[in-house]
Amino acid sequence: MKTTITIVGAGIAGITLARRYAEEQNAEVLIVERRPYIGGYCYDYLDTNGIFIHKHGPHIFRTANKKVYSFLSRFTEWYDYQHKVLSYVGGHYYPMPINLDTVNLFSGGNYDSDTVMNYFEQVKTSPKVIDNVKDAVESQVGAQFYKAFFEQYTKKQWGMDPEKLPTSIISRIPIRTDRDNRYFTVPYQGIPVQGYTAMMQKMLEHPNIHILLNTDYNQIKDEILSEKVFYSGSIDEYFGYCYGKLPYRCVSFKLEEYDVEEYQPVAVVNYPNDYDYTRISEFKHFTNNKSKKTVIAKEFSSAEGDPSYPIPLQENQDLYEKYKKLAFEKKVSFIGRLGQYKYFSMDQIVENILDQKL
Ligand code: UDP
Repeated sequence: MKTTITIVGAGIAGITLARRYAEEQNAEVLIVERRPYIGGYCYDYLDTNGIFIHKHGPHIFRTANKKVYSFLSRFTEWYDYQHKVLSYVGGHYYPMPINLDTVNLFSGGNYDSDTVMNYFEQVKTSPKVIDNVKDAVESQVGAQFYKAFFEQYTKKQWGMDPEKLPTSIISRIPIRTDRDNRYFTVPYQGIPVQGYTAMMQKMLEHPNIHILLNTDYNQIKDEILSEKVFYSGSIDEYFGYCYGKLPYRCVSFKLEEYDVEEYQPVAVVNYPNDYDYTRISEFKHFTNNKSKKTVIAKEFSSAEGDPSYPIPLQENQDLYEKYKKLAFEKKVSFIGRLGQYKYFSMDQIVENILDQKL
């Protein structure tokens, strides 16, 4: 008699787990997905111009973990893409994360990798405790850089004063004293050549994996007999918001098509100041899609919509812990970014699932 597993949500967490159960345990796996498509926030599609559009915003795969890279590489080839981001400030483009070129362009100086350290020494602040975004940035690069590149971006992105936000939010953005202008420096980076959806479709190609799209788990759960249930949706929604809503930051995208080959010099340009949107992504850069036209997405952040970023404040974590206690009492396990109320990038999610004991 085969074990039967139900997985709610066909995002990268659910699909990775499904593949493992099917392959390693020969279990029968049913995935229940509310949306009409697989992939969750990683879903992409080829538009009429031959450009892959990331429906839920730009997704750039990167990892330092060979196991994660090797696992996904069974299901896709990679377009060798190194992510570059520019920040548009005062009518000029600056490399982001801040590097030597950003400092020289912005300050009008002519520093090298050694002397730029002296510059930072002069401008940086020395707060007694560094426990918020403002102090974390200013204690490295000073108030001017903070104001130009981080203050308004963070306010827009999180809808909160950066002084109230923990340093964990920006700890993934380094400050560089060299000229490296890549956003990530880990050894494995790339975009699936045929897109994320195709990669995940391949992961699902196993005789033991069955999937129901357009299906709300709540409406069919009484009909499912399953030894284990894994839920990758929001944990507060699962419990009917009985303790109240967990706050999320939600992002939405406005797609625009232009009759030009290139809209901007790199895939992502951040707009810390002046505009309502936080950034603009131009999709064709990701896999070098050739087209006479281009498609961009303006990204807006708000409190309502599809939950995207858990907000890492202590009071929210406390609320999440209350829900987790409820989960412990049921035979359901919560996986992924929404299930665990923690910001994970794609590779971290895959890593968690690969490390999970089945
Ligand atoms: N950030 C900023 N200015 C930038 C880029 C990032 O202030 O130009 C801050 C902002 O608070 C953001 C955080 O750094 O939420 C993390 O940025 P990252 O690019 O990693 O965000 P993600 O791509 O996950 O939205």
